[in-house]
Amino acid sequence: MAISVNEHVHPEKWLIAPHVIRLETSIIREILKISSQPGVISFAGGLPAPELFPLDDLKRICGQVIETYGPAAFQYSLSRGVPPFVGLLAERASNSGCPTERENVLVTAGAHQAIELVARAFIDPGDYVIVENPTYVGALQAFNYYQARYVPIEMDREGMLVEQVEASIRKFSPKLIYTVSNFQNPTGISMSEGRRQALVEVAVKYNIPLIDDNPYREIRFAGRPATQLKAIGGDAVIELHTFSKTVAPGLRIGWINGPKPVMGQLEKVKQCTDLHTSSFSQYLIYEFVKQGLIDPHIEKIKANYLEKRNTMLHSLEKHFPSGISWTNPEGGLFLWLELPKGVSAKDLLPRAIELGVTYVYGSPFFSAGGGENTMRLGFSNPTVADIVEGVKRLGTLLQERI
Ligand code: PMP
Repeated sequence: MAISVNEHVHPEKWLIAPHVIRLETSIIREILKISSQPGVISFAGGLPAPELFPLDDLKRICGQVIETYGPAAFQYSLSRGVPPFVGLLAERASNSGCPTERENVLVTAGAHQAIELVARAFIDPGDYVIVENPTYVGALQAFNYYQARYVPIEMDREGMLVEQVEASIRKFSPKLIYTVSNFQNPTGISMSEGRRQALVEVAVKYNIPLIDDNPYREIRFAGRPATQLKAIGGDAVIELHTFSKTVAPGLRIGWINGPKPVMGQLEKVKQCTDLHTSSFSQYLIYEFVKQGLIDPHIEKIKANYLEKRNTMLHSLEKHFPSGISWTNPEGGLFLWLELPKGVSAKDLLPRAIELGVTYVYGSPFFSAGGGENTMRLGFSNPTVADIVEGVKRLGTLLQERI
């Protein structure tokens, strides 16, 4: 007798692990869905400007990769990464002031996977992680999966208040310190030189891995370059990189630069996760970098984002009511706004959507709650004209409500 599948199968009763059921979907990804509706101007994402993707170069290099590397570009490859690419990454890092050997490198599917691999390798349920308050919500999502607990450290215009870090280490014995030291997501703030030095000193003193998630360092369009945490701290620092903001996020190429004893462990975790990162994407970026295209391309990105940041700042001055403050980042993709106390950016969002503009409200970036009166505006993805119009729409909303 044939069994009736529809009658007997109840996937809704299957025993999904409780810690997975407790996970929340990414609020940013939800808002991004709304943002893709026609006529909606989105300040919600950290999406690069699509007009900047180097499509002609990538098209040409796709052909070259197939001609030059043939089947190797489509074959399984090493978990650490495609060897010539790994060598090139080590060389570029060394040239930027962080002596790096091949053995320090692991290629990942974007910086997000780099965070995820580090979380997998270090965090047991209930472990503490020191984070900035606010911090990158994608990192919180990755850490949440492993049931981390957080020690949020307050920030000012110079980054996290490092004097709070030492006391927190003594109290909570955290497994990791996680920072986005350059043009932080969500605030756009960069850590000052003094704080960088002090943070590395604390991490070294207590021998706690300092994770520097660093997608935005190269997108500096004003001010003086900052010293990288890795350049100060060497093996004390695990640095996470990505080509998402400098070439294209869809290729999903990032990498980890960490101390050798840890890289072997991360390599095992990478194997458990996905064996290795796309060989084709690695060859593509390898050629893009090797052919000397990346640095001039980054210059174009910087010029574009500088204009967009300036447009956004100017429009905010013009259209926003008083009582609202915002950051003035020297790089990266985001401005961070504080509305008057008691005004909820989350509650304002439905009306913003009616007016045809979206943003990400700030509260999900706070690991211990709070931040209801904050919002993040991304300026990289919309056009200059849309920035002017979108800020005007938000201004109308805020004039109505404040
Ligand atoms: N870390 C930070 C701080 C980010 O802002 C982002 C992208 N929004 C990521 C990691 C993930 O980037 P990727 O596309 O390389 O996975």
